[in-house]
Amino acid sequence: MKSSPIFRLAALSALISASLLAQAQGDPATLNRIADIGKNHSQIMDRFHYLCFDIGPRLTSSPELYRGQLWAMGQFKRFGCTNVHLEKWGEFPVGSDRGPHQVCRMVEPFESEMVFTTPSWSNGTKGLERGEAMLLPETLDDLKAHAADVKGKWIVSVPGRGGSATEINAELEKDGALGRVFGSRNELVITSGPNWKSVTYEKHPGLPQVTVRKSDIDRILRNLTFKRKVVLEINAENRWFKGPVPQYNVVAEIKGTEKPDEVVIVSGHFDSWNGPLSQGAQDNGVGSMTAMEAARILCAAHAKPKRTIRFILWSGEEQGIFGSTNYVKMHKDELDKISAVLVDDGGGNYQGGYNILPQMKPMMEEAIKKSQETFPELPQALRVVNGTRMPRGGGSDHAPFNAVGVPGFFTIETGTLNYNFVHHTQNDRFESCIPAYLIQSGTNHAIVSYNLACAETLLPREPKPAQ
Ligand SMILES: [Zn+2]
Repeated sequence: MKSSPIFRLAALSALISASLLAQAQGDPATLNRIADIGKNHSQIMDRFHYLCFDIGPRLTSSPELYRGQLWAMGQFKRFGCTNVHLEKWGEFPVGSDRGPHQVCRMVEPFESEMVFTTPSWSNGTKGLERGEAMLLPETLDDLKAHAADVKGKWIVSVPGRGGSATEINAELEKDGALGRVFGSRNELVITSGPNWKSVTYEKHPGLPQVTVRKSDIDRILRNLTFKRKVVLEINAENRWFKGPVPQYNVVAEIKGTEKPDEVVIVSGHFDSWNGPLSQGAQDNGVGSMTAMEAARILCAAHAKPKRTIRFILWSGEEQGIFGSTNYVKMHKDELDKISAVLVDDGGGNYQGGYNILPQMKPMMEEAIKKSQETFPELPQALRVVNGTRMPRGGGSDHAPFNAVGVPGFFTIETGTLNYNFVHHTQNDRFESCIPAYLIQSGTNHAIVSYNLACAETLLPREPKPAQ
């Protein structure tokens, strides 16, 4: 059958308006204000500076993390967010933090400052402890034979010497050593803290375990090889706090005007490792400050999203993505109404796009459009993933959502920064970041979350698994 031209025109315009409707998102005038406030009147670097220098690193279970969370709540309230609160997701058996006294240097045969770390939830020194450096004997039996020499010494440990760590540590502790000194593989000293589960306030055994840069350990070993007397001074002030210590996510909202029970989540983890010198800047001060800046921009632009935009600063990420995992468990009944979870946790580069399913493409293209127009020099990409499911794994706070079929996005990070140089190291500091990247990231978060919150539908998601 041949249709009339009028009929064909009507069909065409219905098709166009249907596809426009499918893509209609934020109000253009509001988007202009968001882009202007985000790009030309940014406040992200001020807040990021305060976080790095006035609050500092934020180990899960530490008083600093809690202090930071209270500050963040105050900021969200100042912006004009509602429903600002701490949501408890669990407890840590004992609190850990570092005091201000963090010293590590060689004082004989000449003075040389060293860069060091100790594991979180491990014993530090008893004040400044000065002692001769002694190379760990070849075997446990050798060590036992030299037991009388160990007292008051810093025991320099190189791979392959000594045998089982547990036996060596027990023997050194019995013999009165000050602690062990290890060398890093390179100039980065990496902080972790695997023992948080096994220690209590009353019982946290073990000698200080100090790791210094490769150049520092090499200098010590060179002097020991020449039979020079090497003396080290170390003060690692590690503190313990009585548990159980309650743990929280920070939550704040801009309530939706039409579908307040449907939600777009903008998030990043607020906790960090806390090795000496680290400020938890790129991991993940950046990702929490971009979420906060998005909230500020949207409030200042008087954005009225149709759905609720919920800002969440997770914690317990570094120890096992606990904050987000428990959030998914605690909000089981609301998961079908979460459109998308945006997670910024890939370091200090800019938000360079998203990994998406094919059916998300039209909506996501529209969602990032304003951001791309605003920052043409910082292009984004939408990478369509293979298969029908969002990528699993990926070790950050998007993962627990994807595991239950809620679209979780670990923002693609694009730019010139080398994340490996800072990740969990002494270099994770304010000055390692680029302001232009943070400004784009905060603004992009605001634009994308506002657009998704105003879209006609929730973001299309993967099919539910057959029951
Ligand atoms: Zn992180």
